[in-house]
Amino acid sequence: MTRRDDARDGLQGKVTIVTGAARGQGAAEARTLAQHGASVLAVDVAEVPDDDLGDARYQRMDVTDRAGWVTLVERLQRDHGRIDALVNNAGVTWRARLADVDPDDMERVYRVNVVGPLLGIQHCAPLMPPGSAIVNVGSVAAFTGHVPVAYTTSKWALRGLSKVAALELGPRGIRVNTIHPGYIDTPMTASAAPTFRDANVAETPLGRTGTVDEVAALVAFLVSDRSSYLSGAEIAVDGGMTAHGGVKSIADAVG
Ligand code: NAD
Repeated sequence: MTRRDDARDGLQGKVTIVTGAARGQGAAEARTLAQHGASVLAVDVAEVPDDDLGDARYQRMDVTDRAGWVTLVERLQRDHGRIDALVNNAGVTWRARLADVDPDDMERVYRVNVVGPLLGIQHCAPLMPPGSAIVNVGSVAAFTGHVPVAYTTSKWALRGLSKVAALELGPRGIRVNTIHPGYIDTPMTASAAPTFRDANVAETPLGRTGTVDEVAALVAFLVSDRSSYLSGAEIAVDGGMTAHGGVKSIADAVG
């Protein structure tokens, strides 16, 4: 087997939706999956993508819009007759802390980060044959009491949704897994204070931020047939951040 064949193994022809794919991690996921032979439809609320999507096609869609999902699924039904994979990547953050967060902002974040993936699963699953895969994009915030309370609680909720979906869809041969990125350099994190970045690096055993391609490689694996017995799993792609459970500063302090 050549290196190129090896890279394509398990993804060739897979009809795949990636949400929030106009930029950042979603764009890298769409590009990587298409590079490895998947037939990718990238969607996002943005009119046009900011980033290069390679061979992926692009369509504007808001993940919180039920009618948008209906139209999208009808298009894939017509064009392919099936959906092999859904990557629920679209997400928004909101950095208000506990004392200041407005309940309306909590709901807005929740709608994108939790209701969006729910609608995606509800609309895509009926068209998914056995062997299909759903990947939900969580966050290290989903394991901790991370300070942006709206974001943190939404990602904890997404973990619950993923577990339920793995249970309910497993008997139909549909796998559902969740990834939890640490600090990845994207437009989302670029909007945070530099001290936020430094503090994240200080908590990361690998001592650096992650790249969108490092996340995309994991998504590609979870979509591919290579992960055929993986379901209900939660995989951190965080440079070791969540593995130390908060003791890194102690280890650093004692030398
Ligand atoms: P980003 O802000 O760079 O990109 C997110 C994309 O989602 C944008 O293109 C945006 O337009 C799109 N989007 C927002 N609301 C949408 C909606 N309603 N419908 C469709 N698209 C919508 O963010 P990113 O850093 O690439 O993050 C991607 C995912 O990874 C998110 O779920 C995020 O929470 C998660 N994540 C990111 C990091 C990080 O460090 N960057 C860490 C942990 C988890």
